[in-house]
Amino acid sequence: MPIHEKSLIRPENLVTHDQLVLDGVDVSGHWSTFIQPRALTDYNERLQEEIAALDGGENIHRCWQCGSCTNACTVNAINPDFNPRYWIYLIRLGMEAELVRDKDIIWQCVSCHKCTYACPRDVVPEGVMKATAHWLALNGHTPKSPAAHFDEVFTSQIVATGRIEEGRVIRQFFDRTGQPLKQDWLLEMARRLLAKLPLTLMIKMGLAAVFRPRTRRWGKVRAALAQHLAEHERNARSAGTARAAAGAPMKGSEG
Ligand code: SF4
Ligand code: SF4
Repeated sequence: MPIHEKSLIRPENLVTHDQLVLDGVDVSGHWSTFIQPRALTDYNERLQEEIAALDGGENIHRCWQCGSCTNACTVNAINPDFNPRYWIYLIRLGMEAELVRDKDIIWQCVSCHKCTYACPRDVVPEGVMKATAHWLALNGHTPKSPAAHFDEVFTSQIVATGRIEEGRVIRQFFDRTGQPLKQDWLLEMARRLLAKLPLTLMIKMGLAAVFRPRTRRWGKVRAALAQHLAEHERNARSAGTARAAAGAPMKGSEG
């Protein structure tokens, strides 16, 4: 029997015998293509709940699998393996190991939000992709992404001073991600900026880099923000990383 939609089956699950005769009938090569039987052992009944607890994943339960998100997706147009609809399907079924197999492409979402506008159920697939990438990092499947490092540096500066000093953000971000501060594109950008910036603004920026200005009466806001972030982090960890925090192996990671 021909296998329809063969492209949807992982190559390692397809077996073809170069030489095979069954009941006297030669079915060598293409005619003996079989799909490996597969026992699913990778269910995580809490997977949808874990993703939904992270920012952007809240509406995942609304998905009805129409595929409009994948159809509209910028990255899917370049790489058909990038498939938001499919990953949402896996998450809703709790097929964790299957999802983790695609860990190296899920983060490639460029946040263009075409899927968000195409989705008839207000799932916000872009948010689900972000939450899924976050979940993968929280559970140790992928390293913390540069975007996550940037968010942390940016947020910590806002909480501390109520201001953003771009030079400091860039320095801390490069430091965390192991990048040299001396980069050609950055030097070129600085050169062009310096050529056009008014002198007063340049002085202001220089002083801000040294003295780290703060928003007045920021103390109460800082305390409220810090409390909110701590709660947020606790919720994310309790929903998404209980097993990782406990050092327990991830379901399905055995094979
Ligand atoms: S936001 Fe991400 S998932 Fe959505 S269309 Fe753009 S690249 Fe695709
Ligand atoms: S467009 Fe929305 S409802 Fe349709 S598959 Fe994507 S997330 Fe689900």
